[in-house]
Amino acid sequence: MRSTNLRDQTISFQKEFIHVPERIFHLVDLAYNLWWSWHPEARMVFKLLDRPAWKASGHNPIKMLRSLPEESLNRAATSKLFLRHYDAVISAFYSDIEDENCWFSQNVSMDGCSPVIYFSAEYGLHHSLPLYAGGLGFLAGDYIKECSDLGMPLVAIGFMYPKGYMRQVIDDDGWQHTVDEVLDRRAAPIMQVCLQQGKPLIVQVPMINPPLYIAVWKVMVGRIPLYLLDTDISLNEPSMRTISARLYSGDKNQRLLQEIVLGIGGMQVLHVLGISHSIIHLNEGHAAFALLERIRRSREKGSPYSRALEDVMNTTVFTTHTPVPAGHDIFPLELMDTYFSSYYPLLGLSRNEFYQLGADSDSIPSGFNMTALALRLSTYHNAVSKKHKETAYEMWKDRIPQIKQDPGSFEYVTNGIHTKTWIDPKMLRLFNEYLGQNWLSRQDSRIIWELIEDIPDALLWKNHMLLKLKLINRICKRSRIAWFERDISPALVLAEGSLLDPMIMTIGFSRRFATYKRADLIFSDKERLLRLLCHPTRPIQIIFAGKAHPDDDPGKEILQRIILAAKDPVFQGRIAFVENYDEQLSQYLVHGVDLWLNNPVPPMEACGTSGMKAALNGVPQVSIPDGWWLEGYNTKNGWVFGKERDERDDMRDASALYDLLEEEIVPLYYATDEQGIPHGWVTVMKEAMKAVGCSFTMKRMVTEYVNKFYVKAHEYQVQEKEKGISSPVSDTFPV
Ligand SMILES: *Cc1c(COP(=O)(O)O)cnc(C)c1O
Repeated sequence: MRSTNLRDQTISFQKEFIHVPERIFHLVDLAYNLWWSWHPEARMVFKLLDRPAWKASGHNPIKMLRSLPEESLNRAATSKLFLRHYDAVISAFYSDIEDENCWFSQNVSMDGCSPVIYFSAEYGLHHSLPLYAGGLGFLAGDYIKECSDLGMPLVAIGFMYPKGYMRQVIDDDGWQHTVDEVLDRRAAPIMQVCLQQGKPLIVQVPMINPPLYIAVWKVMVGRIPLYLLDTDISLNEPSMRTISARLYSGDKNQRLLQEIVLGIGGMQVLHVLGISHSIIHLNEGHAAFALLERIRRSREKGSPYSRALEDVMNTTVFTTHTPVPAGHDIFPLELMDTYFSSYYPLLGLSRNEFYQLGADSDSIPSGFNMTALALRLSTYHNAVSKKHKETAYEMWKDRIPQIKQDPGSFEYVTNGIHTKTWIDPKMLRLFNEYLGQNWLSRQDSRIIWELIEDIPDALLWKNHMLLKLKLINRICKRSRIAWFERDISPALVLAEGSLLDPMIMTIGFSRRFATYKRADLIFSDKERLLRLLCHPTRPIQIIFAGKAHPDDDPGKEILQRIILAAKDPVFQGRIAFVENYDEQLSQYLVHGVDLWLNNPVPPMEACGTSGMKAALNGVPQVSIPDGWWLEGYNTKNGWVFGKERDERDDMRDASALYDLLEEEIVPLYYATDEQGIPHGWVTVMKEAMKAVGCSFTMKRMVTEYVNKFYVKAHEYQVQEKEKGISSPVSDTFPV
């Protein structure tokens, strides 16, 4: 085998060479740590350095620093104003990521624990590192940011997708096309993991034939290292190089190889880097092969299968994320044979025993289901909202007998959002003023959130209107650029939002265009919709954004329907579809619209997070009773329509939505005083902020994962150690 444990060798993390004057030397460290992305004062450092260059780089400090002329950097290094800001931020940066008195050390007793290993197929961290498709990725990104803030020891593993990001281009017929955007590794905040003399580290995926090699990149997310696995290297056969090219390939073979790389390759990378670990947390089933690899390793050390299994189970946390069938990977057994026929004997299992691990029914397994595998190999498994727990339990109780026998074993931790990432900087300043400077460290206290009431209605409203203006300006600017740079028709320019009016009540709907999310529900009765949009005194407008998966034609058809409506003069420009939904556009939308719309087919939205992002910024939600809204809605902080459980009936749900908009929501929005302040509406805004700010945050979520699972898994290990049995699945050597 090429790679062995490298404890005795020097490992380095090669940054792109960037020349910066000595006095502002730490700028490079700051640029290489995504910490800057959730600290507005750190973003300001780059902005102050050279505002046009910051914009031109698309808010990517590495790209910007590489392109800056020497004189700009020299000027900054002698500017009093810049240096004052720089010194303050650098000192805050180091004291934050090195703080020993963090939440974790003060609140959690997991003495001597190794870092938790967190596996996720995608990470939504910032638009300069597009390694995400949707909600699952943002959840993972937000999670590791919060772990950094709290000082939770964790190491994250993910995938490097050189072509991970697809840019959405809409043609004149409203059809979605996608263009691969190739990630420039030299201009991304990633460092290559190298051996001596800067030779890139290459790791072979163990026991898999034909041989598969991976290069490794490291991303710093505050205190948390995230290692990205990259198969696009010359050592691999051409067909293997493209494994990591794209997120969620539709091709089963590619997909299986991706998951082999992530799970088995990921464990090998940890081993090679000498990263000690004990608890594994799988964010969805894509990396579940990591658990097989742990069993294989302890078998190699001589443990019986049953002992290895027990150990793996008691130290594994598995989070399942979706009731949508396409969200669960099932691989044909013949395909599994291709890669695993020499692997499962190493586990001490027969072919049939091995395939039983991935069986999703009691009968002869017809495919290998990754969710079933993860459920069987984890003592701690959880759903992502209270309702999803019931749905997931129903889904699996008859397929996996252990789950039926022990219903209590299925827990839930409702998802949350990383407050500092999703709050608009202007709102943040308002919160700092009214909630007290240290409100963030006390964000889970209800009392803090009552202080929202002290913000004068007029001030909050003015702030909100500025954000709305910013959103609409942004959208107009995007269509202006598209009009100028691409050959698009005038009708498409209008459809992309150039007729939006900041004085009109604005509904936002943006998310992936998966069919169950029913983006076109509000078009069910065109006449009623028209009456709402073009009401003589109380008009509304709707902004849509989102991408359909490249293989999802029904999703693209829904998208087309919306674009054709946006182009249709009959709607008078009150429908807009904004192209190429990404993290940056998402920020503008959740900060700037007036009302967030969420209308999935229940119970398909396991949780949903975009409504939380909106509510945190004072944008209340009108939603189907599904996912987090069943826990979040308290009658004062938004609206609910439709049925929680029933046959799908779009017309019924749409009617309920129209009724609510006509009778309650729109009149409330337009009920303003002489100064133009809608006090009734602002009351709902404040309730929305309070409810989410306190309970639907990443801090609450990380705390629950720690208390419900990590602490118990750690206790198990401590007990085993006390019995004198060293855990065969843990690598316990120091980093
Ligand atoms: C938050 C977010 C999502 C997930 O939104 P859901 O409401 O959970 O579907 C997807 N994409 C982007 C860009 C986001 O910011």
